[in-house]
Amino acid sequence: ALAVPDKQVDSVCPYCGVGCQLTYNIKDNKILFVEGRDGPANRERLCVKGRYGFDYAHHPHRLTVPLIRRADAPKSGEFTMDPARVLDVFREATWEEALDAAGGALARIRDTHGKRALAGFGSAKGSNEEAYLFQKLVRTGFGSNNVDHCTRLCHASSVAALLEGIGSGAVSNPVMDVTLAEVVIVIGANPTVNHPVAATWIKNAIKNGTKLVVCDPRRSDLARSAHRYLQFKPDTDVALLNAMMNVIVAEGLVDQDFIASRTIGYAELEQNVAGYSPELMAPICGVDADTIRYVARLYATSKASMILWGMGISQHIHGTDNARCLIALALMTGQIGRPGTGLHPLRGQNNVQGASDAGLIPMMFPDYQRVDNPLALAKFERAWGMPLDSTPGLTVVEIMHAIPRGEIRGMYIMGENPAMSDPDANHARASLAALDHLVVQDIFLTETAYLADVILPASAFPEKTGSFTNTDRLVQIGRQAIDPPGQARQDLWIIQQMAARLGLDWQYGHVSEVFDEMRRIMPSIGGITWDRLEREHAVTYPCTKEGDPGQPVVFTEQFPRESGRARFVPADIIPADERPDAEYPMVLITGRQLEHWHTGSMTRRTAVLDAIEPDPVALVHPLDLAALGGKPGDVVTIASRRGEVALYARADDSSPRGAIFVPFCYYEAAINRLTNAALDPFGKIPEFKYCAIRVALG
Ligand code: SF4
Repeated sequence: ALAVPDKQVDSVCPYCGVGCQLTYNIKDNKILFVEGRDGPANRERLCVKGRYGFDYAHHPHRLTVPLIRRADAPKSGEFTMDPARVLDVFREATWEEALDAAGGALARIRDTHGKRALAGFGSAKGSNEEAYLFQKLVRTGFGSNNVDHCTRLCHASSVAALLEGIGSGAVSNPVMDVTLAEVVIVIGANPTVNHPVAATWIKNAIKNGTKLVVCDPRRSDLARSAHRYLQFKPDTDVALLNAMMNVIVAEGLVDQDFIASRTIGYAELEQNVAGYSPELMAPICGVDADTIRYVARLYATSKASMILWGMGISQHIHGTDNARCLIALALMTGQIGRPGTGLHPLRGQNNVQGASDAGLIPMMFPDYQRVDNPLALAKFERAWGMPLDSTPGLTVVEIMHAIPRGEIRGMYIMGENPAMSDPDANHARASLAALDHLVVQDIFLTETAYLADVILPASAFPEKTGSFTNTDRLVQIGRQAIDPPGQARQDLWIIQQMAARLGLDWQYGHVSEVFDEMRRIMPSIGGITWDRLEREHAVTYPCTKEGDPGQPVVFTEQFPRESGRARFVPADIIPADERPDAEYPMVLITGRQLEHWHTGSMTRRTAVLDAIEPDPVALVHPLDLAALGGKPGDVVTIASRRGEVALYARADDSSPRGAIFVPFCYYEAAINRLTNAALDPFGKIPEFKYCAIRVALG
């Protein structure tokens, strides 16, 4: 007989940044099924991940007891998910023993080698309150700003450009504004795969007359619905975008009033794009001059044009330049500050916006208040009652490079999996293994946890309550639906226990007490009370005073920069760090696929999702596959200068010839062993979207 739920709990989806609201249907502490709720971002819709991706919480691989590495277990060897072999490497411990070992070791490193010898990675999978407490622990308990999370790997360059240009790193308009736009440009993003419910709003808008322009080296599903599809060559974003701006300037399509009243720096931008005519750029970017002109005119002259972008823009060593060009396009045409216009960097994880807002980044306190700004420093020293470090900390990849130099000796990692997600993962794994002490707090024995000294079993998304901020700046509540298994504990409790062992005396009870502290020192959410979140389910920030309805569309009158004006920043072409050559003649592009999320630790332990996509695949152009003498389903080995992996070839003509796409979620073919750790100098984001590879059958 079908089980009938005995409990329903309203929450949000744990996966992408769209932030769909859902209802868990529970019986006997088990999730039976999930239904979409009428949330502002999803209107009852859910994608395959939201609907079927819940049973990871009940998976037998869940960590249920604290673990301590055996003294004779080397930090090497291949990762295993086999529970029987786990106990060869780790022994079970009590919470008291594990916390004392973890906190004690980190405190000793701090006291012996100095405050900056420690670092922490928080997680965008966690709540705002977890992110806030984690960064507070690093800044006050460790004593440095060496705290970061996966925003460094996804939109750090977008945020750097947005903060510089318009004074705010978040989106200007919600996704749903596509329904109000005449023209929508989606560039370097694949919403059908990565933000599926958002993609449905774009398709609805098209049905109602919106003209969609997709610009991407890979032809996404959305491109089939596009008014124009521009398949530019990988790594030529700036060439394409500067050529569009060249047309807009040359044809007098700029919004002079907007430029004069709301911006600075236009003269330099105009001078710079003068050298980027469509005729000059067409052979570089692979889009013909007429199409560049057509799309530039379309965008500039529509009543409302909106740009959405993803990691195809951000994950380059020129990611900040790419985003600068998008910002300049919007500013020069006045396509920002009104409904149906603006700039929307689509956030990847469900709380990457909120975790960044909460200060899980090394150069900013919560609400993007710079650690090296004396006023901000004094404010947070007062709020937290102790002196703080005024030097920006190291970022994710910088930390991995500081470890072999002996500068970072201990780490606390909560919910992140850098052994899979970092570029040049062989190097990252060697660095993690070289730490004097590594503490990992997670729900599974991830590839990172496998290298830990102490593992703290944490709570899965449906096992705790917290607030989460979606890509639209909507703050929503995820509610506890089930209890954690065995001795697994809630993350807020674990962070506080670790804080106690680092000398901090914290007494937070309910999660709302953490949120209250946040809203007191974060002006952007000052008007959002926990009661209001409970009542209204979702409130958009900025929301500075109680009763403020929140602002879905921002920059309507001014930009949050000192002058109130936005700033143009010109960009020139910078080639990828590693170009193809005779030895490595092809290009690797990495990303995600619909059924799996991030490093796969959750979705690959979800029955339905794993059944749909069980094996590691490389998407290879059919002609490239034929040239190798192979066919779909054959095993191919892909190698870069940093490593190699073997996986199944899938014929896919959406990528241009010579470019291979591989999802990064498969531990048995961890593609980040191959990627390049070269960084964008502003956002410090690695170049996941381009490195040189060679491919062979077998
Ligand atoms: Fe979850 Fe994103 Fe899918 Fe919505 S679109 S159900 S938030 S994964």
